[in-house]
Amino acid sequence: MNGLGREQDQECSIEEQVRTDRLHQLFRQSFTAIFGSYLAAAMLCWLCWDRFDHSVMVAWLALLGLSALLRVKMFMDWFRCPNSERTPSRWERRYWWTLTLSAGIWGAGALTLMPPDDRLSQVLVILFTVGMSVSAVSCYSAYRYMTLASIGLVLLPCTVWLLFQPSSMQLGVAIAVLVFSTFVVSATRKLSDALEKAFRLTRQMERAHHISNLAAQTDELTGLMNRRAFFERAHLLYAQCRHHQQPLCALMLDMDHFKQINDTYGHQAGDQVLRQIGGVINASFRKADVYGRLGGEEFAVLLPDTSLEAAREIAEQLVKAISNLACDPVHGLSASLGVAFAYAQDQDLHGLMNTADKALYRAKAQGRNQVALAE
Ligand code: GH3
Ligand code: MG
Ligand code: MG
Repeated sequence: MNGLGREQDQECSIEEQVRTDRLHQLFRQSFTAIFGSYLAAAMLCWLCWDRFDHSVMVAWLALLGLSALLRVKMFMDWFRCPNSERTPSRWERRYWWTLTLSAGIWGAGALTLMPPDDRLSQVLVILFTVGMSVSAVSCYSAYRYMTLASIGLVLLPCTVWLLFQPSSMQLGVAIAVLVFSTFVVSATRKLSDALEKAFRLTRQMERAHHISNLAAQTDELTGLMNRRAFFERAHLLYAQCRHHQQPLCALMLDMDHFKQINDTYGHQAGDQVLRQIGGVINASFRKADVYGRLGGEEFAVLLPDTSLEAAREIAEQLVKAISNLACDPVHGLSASLGVAFAYAQDQDLHGLMNTADKALYRAKAQGRNQVALAE
């Protein structure tokens, strides 16, 4: 509810945000891959149960099961982790190791299972490794190097083995797989580039939107909320006070003889004074208060859950702070303040502001440089 200046968070760079978006995309896309890759291995073993060495199959499935558990544990940690801790520096490396471990086991296991003299089994194994590689493109596309590593680890051992077998059919299959792989590899570049571009554009648009929003709400000279933003926030605060049946105080501040300051010292000196007044106001109020520049040399403040007596004291301190302000070459600055108090259910916001305004006129009429309370 406070002044806009305090709301500008320390935002991290767009590049960091893009990296984090990629990580989130990776985790979103690849959870099912854990089960998919295990299922593929189980299916291959089932299809070739009579053709593969049983003890190798069991050992392979057991190792794959262990690596899958490791990956599930990592995902569980990720889901439990607060969003602020889901950073690339914390997760990328861990993800990378579990992925290379499981892809390595897959590829090495498939090679170990490959029966040297059974063509049908060999084609089946190659078919499954190609399928795994294509799935890797859809699962790890946010990180090209992870996609390439998993494709390489799963596909290459069996393909390279086939490449050195005596039969021309085996050689042909291996070459075909390698040719298809080049298309897949080039697709991974296009996909990861497109994703990165989409993330970057989204973040840039968000930032531009934030900046233009902030500019539309900020008074350029003082950095406080402008009239529109003030009333937007004021209505929210008013509704909140009404809901909680809290009292609300309004302060209206108007600089004394400001026209004279402009006439004597020039408009630029007047602007400088207004900037300093903005600084004093920004430093004087709580986070829950709403304050802004209504226009010219007029400012307004709303103090929720504040008694009239407390508001009067705050206003007196503000008058004192302004009269003590040194703003060379301008001397003898002063302001007048009107203070009004209401329970939100008794009076609407504009009624409350009008009452404070009337009190301000009385402060002017009574000689300026003072606070007047609403009658
Ligand atoms: P009073 O004590 O009765 O309030 O006298 P005043 O001269 O402050 O009142 P008035 O409303 O007649 O004059 C306000 C002056 O504030 C007029 C205008 O030149 C000046 N002013 C308004 N906006 C700005 C601004 O952004 N910069 C500067 N330098 N002066 C401004
Ligand atoms: Mg004035
Ligand atoms: Mg005025």
